[in-house]
Amino acid sequence: MDYDILILGGGIIGCAVAYELSKYNFNIALIERDYDVADDVAFFNTAIVYDGSETSDDVMSGLEYIGSNIMRETCERFNVPFKKIGCLRVVSDENGILKLEEMYERAKRRGIEGVYLLDNKDVYDIEPNIKSNVKRGLYSENVAIVAPFDLAIAYAEVASDNGVNFRLEEEVLNIQELARGFRVTTNKNKFNCKVVINTIPHEIFIQENGKVEEQVIEENKEKSKNMSYLLVDDNYKNKLNKIVIETFDKNSFVISAPMTTSGSLIGIKTTKKSSLDESLEYANRVISNLTRKNINNIFKESYNKDSMLIDDSEIDRGYIRITGTHYGKITIAPAIARMICDTISNNLNCTLNKNFIDKRREIYKFRELGKKEANEIIALDSRYGKIICVCNQISEGEIVDCIRRPLGARTVEGVKRRTGAGFGSCQGSHCYQKIVNILARELDKNITEIVDDSKNSKVLESRIKEFKDV
Ligand SMILES: Cc1cc2nc3c(=O)[nH]c(=O)nc-3n(C[C@H](O)[C@H](O)[C@H](O)COP(=O)(O)OP(=O)(O)OC[C@H]3O[C@@H](n4cnc5c(N)ncnc54)[C@H](O)[C@@H]3O)c2cc1C
Repeated sequence: MDYDILILGGGIIGCAVAYELSKYNFNIALIERDYDVADDVAFFNTAIVYDGSETSDDVMSGLEYIGSNIMRETCERFNVPFKKIGCLRVVSDENGILKLEEMYERAKRRGIEGVYLLDNKDVYDIEPNIKSNVKRGLYSENVAIVAPFDLAIAYAEVASDNGVNFRLEEEVLNIQELARGFRVTTNKNKFNCKVVINTIPHEIFIQENGKVEEQVIEENKEKSKNMSYLLVDDNYKNKLNKIVIETFDKNSFVISAPMTTSGSLIGIKTTKKSSLDESLEYANRVISNLTRKNINNIFKESYNKDSMLIDDSEIDRGYIRITGTHYGKITIAPAIARMICDTISNNLNCTLNKNFIDKRREIYKFRELGKKEANEIIALDSRYGKIICVCNQISEGEIVDCIRRPLGARTVEGVKRRTGAGFGSCQGSHCYQKIVNILARELDKNITEIVDDSKNSKVLESRIKEFKDV
């Protein structure tokens, strides 16, 4: 066998599974087709960590509850931004009140503490800047925000340091079941392994007895529903401190959440594609005086209907499949990874890895250092004194470190995700070219070879004779 375990896909689930399994003496590889792990985890470095009180599905609720608790400990250990800030759901009609009461009763039945049903006065005490004519609210103090890129990359770095082989830029083409184990064919290699953990979200080919069978996982997009996201500048005066969700009807809501770095994020779900002005109109039903001037960036996507599948029914054959979408998949990733690890370690004869190091190599974040500490680090490496991203105060030292770390950044997006450079109010317009130059120097490449995110995203197409830098 080439490997005991092959993990297919390097999203948050694949990376969390790799980390958990690296605690055992398995020979493991993770195969990811992109240049980097966690490429699709989010548009921005903030995700909500749910507490299991909001969903009507008891299984998902349990996974969210366990996942959020494991995540809090993991983030503390790996120094990943995780802030328990609380979530306030507000309603302004009778139907909404009934829904909140149902949610509250469910949370009580599940034994989730820290969930309170509030009248409108209590709501405004917690969040005086909410604009709407709120009748009632449901406050859950357990809900948190996390930096999802940091978390996924931390999982991958620790797994890599503990021996997991990350095979990037390698695309899985098919999986063939053998008399013992599996053969996974990629665009570069063929590997035999005992166990396959497949987290790839789309179709894959499974061959049984030489026969090719196409398994198509339905794209479960609700075509009629759209999400728009507005990144709100930190200077916006009426920002909300909690995560606030106001549901208007079954097809539309507005969600506002502070970001893990600075500024806030507003998500708007509607039935029709909204222009920026229409999105602002929706957002202003919940907060006040939000204008175009306060918006740094906009993202849009169609709304995914939840369709999560965790299938370990074929574990005796050595095959586990995790697929589908769920609005809280980041939250449940740590719980799924633990569950899979328990199942596999019970099924395969294995021992704990005595050399396992549950620690991420240290990262110096200039903006978080005190003056004395910053000066000490600058004295050791002057690149920590040279600021590249002025908005988020990211130094050259941090960018160089993120390229040279295990599973280091090789693309501009990789640098941005790891350091936060380019995610400030100018959205990279002042630092993008500087990041490209540092990448070229550190990777010993020509500047025209540097890509934004993937193979087909070259930053500069070709050399222009007049510019000697290029
Ligand atoms: C806009 C948005 C907001 C969200 N907000 C939240 C939130 O606030 N809280 C929360 O808990 N969750 C949230 N989620 C959910 C969460 O971000 C995603 O569901 C989660 O990141 C999916 O992770 P994954 O590992 O399952 O899949 P993916 O991230 O899709 O990973 C699968 C990987 O497989 C790779 N791959 C695909 N095909 C192949 C192949 N043939 N060979 C090799 N590799 C392949 C892909 O490149 C990818 O890296 C949000 C999702 C979206 C879209």
